[in-house]
Amino acid sequence: MRIVSGMRPTGKLHLGHYFGVIKNWVKLQDEHETFFFVADWHALTTAYKKTSDLKRNIRELMIDWLTLGLDPQKSILFVQSRVKEHAELHLLFSMITPKSWLEWNPTYKDMKYNLLRLQDIALQFKGGLRDVVREFMNMIPYKVEDFERFEEHLLDDLAETFISALFEGEIEPELLKNLNVSKRDFYETDTYGFLGYPVLQAADILIYKGQGVPVGEDQLPHIELTREIARRFNHLYGEIFPEPEALLTETPKVPGTDGRKMSKSYNNAIFFADTEEEVKTKVMKMFTDPQKLRRNDPGRPDLCPVFMYHKLFTKDSSKIEQIDRDCRSGKLGCVDCKRMMLEGLEAFLKPFREKREEIEENVRDVEEIFLEGSSKARELASKTMEEVREAMNLG
Ligand code: SF4
Repeated sequence: MRIVSGMRPTGKLHLGHYFGVIKNWVKLQDEHETFFFVADWHALTTAYKKTSDLKRNIRELMIDWLTLGLDPQKSILFVQSRVKEHAELHLLFSMITPKSWLEWNPTYKDMKYNLLRLQDIALQFKGGLRDVVREFMNMIPYKVEDFERFEEHLLDDLAETFISALFEGEIEPELLKNLNVSKRDFYETDTYGFLGYPVLQAADILIYKGQGVPVGEDQLPHIELTREIARRFNHLYGEIFPEPEALLTETPKVPGTDGRKMSKSYNNAIFFADTEEEVKTKVMKMFTDPQKLRRNDPGRPDLCPVFMYHKLFTKDSSKIEQIDRDCRSGKLGCVDCKRMMLEGLEAFLKPFREKREEIEENVRDVEEIFLEGSSKARELASKTMEEVREAMNLG
């Protein structure tokens, strides 16, 4: 089976990326024909304003992929923007994709809904502020026209400060806790590129006639959209594209050090590029069962992120059972428990850390690998584009 998948370059990879995605890719490359790409154009759908880190992030991702076991002898590893044919197919697909298909995409709908709720909070805040500011201005001898000139400006600034405070946790309404939206999303994602990114995804997959796409549950609607676009194209211009299947995989849950989903933006991630000292500091600060305040208090390992890490990194299953018992009975303290877990975690991370250092010393080789991968990908992509142009009677 030909498998295609990509990842946005958003910085160094952490344990969540490994167990959620990369470990599965490494397995797939042994059994299938695999294409894995650094989705740098996709990174622009949300973070187009700040591209100063993009080059560095692309390089970090390449290094991490090679560190974690993606093998250029087994997979075609490349950078999306180096294969311009993706953009051409995206354009042609955008001609035949009804707008409603995109507006019904749950990711877009959720984001849109959350943004509207946030805009609403900001507007309410601004409305309340306007009255306070006016009252204040009435108290000082100011000319009305001067006031009007800077009133909007001032309110915008204050509203922005309010939103920042919301996101930085200084103000924490219940609502924000339930919204899966970041400060960046609030300001930046109401664009054509964001609406249309599933069409770009369809082009990324179909340009290689991909038959399988490893995804998580939340990505299923995108694969369905890819299948719909393939069907529509084939119906209009003749059979060119297969309808790719979603390859759902069960992945273990790796919480962040604070028990939430592991994410760079939550500042709770353990990265493969972290030093031994950095990992130790993060582990010793990890959240545990909040009810276990003293060493001898009985704990609830099933609610504790440290115990979840034991399940992943402590090799001896009888030791894990013992930890479970000793935590529940109050025999084991969290500091000792973390130290034990750290041993297993370090044994897991160390070989990757060493490999990463080796790869980093030869960054030129990394560039070469991805250049070569991109040119192999381009060969296949341009063949597909010849068929597409022919079928559509272009130039
Ligand atoms: S003893 Fe270990 S498993 Fe129990 S709460 Fe503390 S850290 Fe978690």
